[in-house]
Amino acid sequence: MSALDFVHETRPARVVFGAGARRHLPRELDALGLGRALVLTTPGHAALGHEVAALLGSRGVGVHAGAVMHVPVEAARVAADTARRLGADVCVAAGGGSTIGLAKAIALESGLPSVALPTTYAGSEMTPLYGLTEGGQKKTGRDWRVMPRVVVYDPELSRDLPVTVSMASGMNAVAHAAEGLYAQDASPLHRVTAQEGIRAIARALPRLHATPNDAEARSDALYGAWLCGSVLGQVQMGLHHKICHTLGGAFNLPHAELHTVMLPHTLAYNASAAPQAMAALGQALGLADAPGLAAPRALQGLNARLSLPATLRDIGLPAQALNRAAELAASAPYPNPRPIERAALRELLQRAFEGADVA
Ligand code: NAD
Repeated sequence: MSALDFVHETRPARVVFGAGARRHLPRELDALGLGRALVLTTPGHAALGHEVAALLGSRGVGVHAGAVMHVPVEAARVAADTARRLGADVCVAAGGGSTIGLAKAIALESGLPSVALPTTYAGSEMTPLYGLTEGGQKKTGRDWRVMPRVVVYDPELSRDLPVTVSMASGMNAVAHAAEGLYAQDASPLHRVTAQEGIRAIARALPRLHATPNDAEARSDALYGAWLCGSVLGQVQMGLHHKICHTLGGAFNLPHAELHTVMLPHTLAYNASAAPQAMAALGQALGLADAPGLAAPRALQGLNARLSLPATLRDIGLPAQALNRAAELAASAPYPNPRPIERAALRELLQRAFEGADVA
C-alpha cells in the first residue's frame, strides 16, 4: 500500500445483532423516546408485520403491508398518509430492500424516523441512499435523513428466505464490498470492512445452499450483509452498480440476480486497473494468491456452485436491448478505476448476456 492519505466519514447508526434480537425492539424504541410505531412489510409478509406489532404491544399503532419493489411514488404516498392518519412517530420496516426503501421514502417526505429489521442481505438499512419510481423511471438520491436510526439484525427472520433468494441476495452484498475495495474515496477501514464482509458471506452461502435453515450460517450471512451494506453507504460505487442500476431500472430486471450475473464481468473489466483490490477480493474468497482475473473467476465459479443464474438472457434482458444498455451505462460520468470505453462495455454486456467465462 502507498503512504496513507484518506478521509473517513461515517454517521452513527445503532446496530443490535443476534438471534432473537427483534425482542429488543421495545427497548430500542423507548431509548429513542418513540412510542407510536407503524410496522411496514410487503403484502406477502403481513404475518411478520403482525408478529412485530405484537412484540411492540402498546407502542404499535398498526401494520401497513404495502411495500412494493422499486418503491413506486404512489405506494410511498399511501404509506405516508397511513402513518399520518395513525399518528405514527416512527416506522419499523421488517423486510428486504423494498420494505426498507418504503420507510426511506416516508422519511424523505415527512421526516419520520425509522427502525429497520432486515430480512435479506441487500444492505439498504446501512445507507443514506433512496430510490423512488415514478412513470417507470427510478430516481435515486442520497440523504442522511433516510438512514434508519436503529438496525436490528435478527438472523431468525431470514430463516425462511428461499434458497435462491438467499444466494442472489448474498451476491448483491458481495457486489457492494467488491466495488468498495477499489472505490477512490475508500479508507483503510472501509477496505478491512469490505474484506471481512465478503469473507463472511462467501463462508455462509455454500452452507446455506446445502442447509437453508443452518442458524450459524444465517447469522454469518447477515453479519456479512451488515458489513457490505456499511461499505455501500459510505463510499462511491463504480461501473458495476452503475450498470445494475441502469439495466434494472430501464428493463425491470430482478435486482439481486442482476448483480449476481454482472459482478464477475464488471470486476474482470476493472481488474487490470485495480490489482490491489483484486488481490484483497481473492484473499477474502480464500485464494492464496489472486493475480489478474483469478478473483472474478473465483466469483463466477462460486455463482455456478450456488446454482445462481449466469446470463442476462436468463433473467429477462432481450438481446436487442444490449446496444441501448451500453449507451445508457456509458452516458453519465462516474468514478471507476478503468475509464469507461463504450466498445469494451458493449463487449462486456455481450459476455454477460451469453454467460461467457470471465476472460
Ligand atoms: P425485496 O425486499 O424485494 O426482497 C426480495 C425477496 O425476498 C422478495 O421476494 C421477498 O418477498 C423475499 N423476502 C424478504 N424477506 C423475506 C423473509 N423473511 N422470508 C421469506 N421471503 C422474504 O428485495 P431485496 O433484494 O432485499 O432489495 C432490493 C431492493 O432494494 C431494490 O429495489 C434495490 O434497488 C433496493 N436496494 C436499495 C439499497 C439502498 O442503499 N438504497 C441497497 C440495496 C438494495
